Amino acid sequence: MSYLYPDLDDEHRLAGLGHSGFILHIIPDFLLQLQPMTDITERLTRFTTPEQRELIHLIAREANRLGMHAYLVGGFVRDLLLGRMVNDFDIVVVGNAITLCRSLVKKYGGRLTPHILFKTATWFLPETFAGHPRVWDLTSARLETYARPAALPTVTLGTLHDDLRRRDFTINAMALCLDSDCFGVLIDPLGGRADLEHGLIRVIHPRSFIDDPTRLFRAVRYAVRYGFRLAPETAALIPDALPYVDDLSPERLRHELDLIFEEGQPTRILERLFALGILQSIYPPLPSSKADLARLRRIRFPSQATSSSETPDLPLHEARWIAWLMALPTKEIRAIARRLHFTADLKKKVLAASSIFHNLDAMGGWTPSLCTAWLEGFPDQAIQVVSLCLPAVKARDCLKNYLEQWKTVRPLTNGETLKALGLPPGPLYKEWLWQLRAAWLDGAISTAAEEEMLLHKLIEERRQKHGDTNDLQSERM
Ligand code: ATP
Repeated sequence: MSYLYPDLDDEHRLAGLGHSGFILHIIPDFLLQLQPMTDITERLTRFTTPEQRELIHLIAREANRLGMHAYLVGGFVRDLLLGRMVNDFDIVVVGNAITLCRSLVKKYGGRLTPHILFKTATWFLPETFAGHPRVWDLTSARLETYARPAALPTVTLGTLHDDLRRRDFTINAMALCLDSDCFGVLIDPLGGRADLEHGLIRVIHPRSFIDDPTRLFRAVRYAVRYGFRLAPETAALIPDALPYVDDLSPERLRHELDLIFEEGQPTRILERLFALGILQSIYPPLPSSKADLARLRRIRFPSQATSSSETPDLPLHEARWIAWLMALPTKEIRAIARRLHFTADLKKKVLAASSIFHNLDAMGGWTPSLCTAWLEGFPDQAIQVVSLCLPAVKARDCLKNYLEQWKTVRPLTNGETLKALGLPPGPLYKEWLWQLRAAWLDGAISTAAEEEMLLHKLIEERRQKHGDTNDLQSERM
């Protein structure tokens, strides 16, 4: 036992001391950081609810009973130290999280979903925990090795130190002890707290970006989110890692970009990714002009919008994908959709937005009925995003009017009315009903009587054209 920290057992003391060579480098800081931090326990109280804390203690107690140690790690610790509200509870246990989760289910109910490959488990709490967070992800402390760059890692159970060293950046590699004998002790073997204080994003080892090039995207995302800089040694590693971006699977790449599109400043993030040559490594024609990136700013969080029409009716990241790519030609969009495995639905919306975007000039001179006829072929959400991205121009009014009024405009006449007039059902129905609708849309008619007159005119024209002798029951109009 350490004479400085008699309360800590071997696992806690060794958490930062697992590998020789590392020891000399980290001992002084590590020991300093191990002081129980009253401000951390205070922060825990301030930034979490009593129900969340109750669950944290309950999980930690059960882990201890099974001989495991439990820690809060990653983004939770980072945001707590930054004084930000935290909702993601990233709990790591030294031991098997699936065993712990099974035991929790046995004792408290609910159900679990184990993820055998990554040795994690999700506990879905039972109804009896009303008012508590109902889903908890529990992770086993693990060691990760990479068979080749950009591959998914091979995972084995490990120590807390292994688990912290496998992480992306020092600011995400701190743990908060949850065991009763060291509750609230910060375990920071890699200098995460100092980097947080200095506003630095720093990888944990020089091969980090090559092992997992998604970290290139994560580094810039965190830097912009927190107004941090990349540590110079970290920035210097980027050029050598760029060729490996191409080896990332479409899903992993898209996931990282989705995360960027959920951030407060996606434009800034993309600008920096371009400046560092990272986005071009995915696919060179990805849009990088000021205008392309500025469109992202127009798609805002629902909380920032002053009216519901200012937020698109689809997830933020999807709306921003559409906003970003809409100016590209069809061929490029298809290539990007292939590279990043877009869902068929997202691909359809981006292609629709691109068609609309490239016809905006023409659309400015169209009648409402022409606009409506054309826009009806596209998903509303794509139209909505294009409309949000445009400055006040005539074409934007067309899009807005279509969504807010024109698409729902219908004549009073319907198929039943035409049938009652003795007209045989057929393609003519569709044509006449459209002519009536177009007349309403373009302001040629605006009352029921005017619609009736127009319908009679259409019937008369048909009679003259075809010499039709059908007995049209116009009196039933
Ligand atoms: P955010 O606020 O963006 O959600 P987070 O830290 O919760 O931040 P997650 O993506 O949920 O981020 O990841 C949880 C933790 O897992 C991170 O804090 C980090 O320690 C680790 N992690 C995530 N992705 C990687 C990666 N590619 N390489 C190494 N560690 C990672």
